[in-house]
Amino acid sequence: MPSLTCGGRAGPRGGASTARGEHPGRGRAVRLDVDPSLRFLLRPDRRDGPVDVRAADTDTWGHVVESVGVPLTEVGRLVVDGAPVAASAPVTEAVLRVAPVARPQATATTPPRFLLDVHLGGLVRRMRLLGLDAAYRPEADDPELVRIAAAEGRVLLTRDRGLLRRRSLPQGALVRGSATDDQLDDVLDRFAPPLTPWTRCTACGGVLAVVGANEVAEEVRAGTARTYADFARCLSCGHVYWHGAHAARIEPVVAHARDVVARRLGASG
Ligand SMILES: [Zn+2]
Repeated sequence: MPSLTCGGRAGPRGGASTARGEHPGRGRAVRLDVDPSLRFLLRPDRRDGPVDVRAADTDTWGHVVESVGVPLTEVGRLVVDGAPVAASAPVTEAVLRVAPVARPQATATTPPRFLLDVHLGGLVRRMRLLGLDAAYRPEADDPELVRIAAAEGRVLLTRDRGLLRRRSLPQGALVRGSATDDQLDDVLDRFAPPLTPWTRCTACGGVLAVVGANEVAEEVRAGTARTYADFARCLSCGHVYWHGAHAARIEPVVAHARDVVARRLGASG
């Protein structure tokens, strides 16, 4: 019965938390009223109502929110008795209301800059297609991703909650959805970024410069050079693009993306 033997000494916690919380029998009794839109982050048996936990006297509200599985990147206002409290404030025996981050969410730079983790390779190409500044460094480990995000003012997009808990990460977001379409909708709805389709290289994220057909004649087939009028070259990797090559497939993606952003901006205005 290992779960019942931890009363005497302050030994390591067992694998499963108990129903009484993270500090059984000690500390302060606190209740979290987590917004329904964030409850998918909670343990399944905690999703139907308020979450009761016991917190150590030295814990902050931020510690407690993270301890139940909600990254602070996903959290907006924290409110106790109708008054906002900081995540860094020490806990009190009270009910904490946990609201989701407001949408559209402001970012450190305008337009926003993003950095995507290794599992979001499909999303990064879609974002670049829409002209978003989306960096992708699949070779980077977690500390390197955090360093790049901080140095370049980028929002780190990930499906990994652990990555979002790193203290030195200035801004991150947990991407909802496992399908690329859903992930893109979530990012567009969350940040409502300005879209400039056909301005970035989907391969490397570099900026495209418009070039004349005569400048790319040696790089594209003669038929292509005669058929398409609009060519662009990536200033970073040199890849040549021509408008129309995949337009029938891509234009609905662009139209849908514009709708998602417009809906969010309309809803918030
Ligand atoms: Zn490129």
